[in-house]
Amino acid sequence: MQETRTEDARQAGGTGFRRTRQRAAVLAALQTSADFVSVQELHRVISTGDTTVGLTTVYRTVRELAQAGRIDTIREKDGSRLYRLAVGHRHYLICHRCLRSWPVDSEVVEIWAEAAAEAAGFTSVEHTVELTGVCARCTAESMAERP
Ligand SMILES: [Zn+2]
Ligand SMILES: [Zn+2]
Repeated sequence: MQETRTEDARQAGGTGFRRTRQRAAVLAALQTSADFVSVQELHRVISTGDTTVGLTTVYRTVRELAQAGRIDTIREKDGSRLYRLAVGHRHYLICHRCLRSWPVDSEVVEIWAEAAAEAAGFTSVEHTVELTGVCARCTAESMAERP
């Protein structure tokens, strides 16, 4: 009995995790495209990776992400919709000496945030992650300044 319940719980968790992975796959595919893309194009990009996601799932996932504000949508003249990663949600490495910033690959943060929120039953979760330090150039300059 105990065993069966454990198995059920694991399967329920697995479904949530699969959804999180589908979202991550869509977000990762969007990160590789600078311009607006169609769902068909997204599906093609995702299908070349390790994750196999059906076209219907991509449609649903894109709609969810658009509702969550993670994706920007535009409508073409012919009525079809195109999507792009929402501007504004990115994570940066910020140098506190020269104050320049570099966008960083943050998929692992997105996956963690989604999973943590979902596990706790939270919705409309937002997060802020900022990495500050000294950039490579400033580090090199400060090394050169040393006697
Ligand atoms: Zn710097
Ligand atoms: Zn983030």
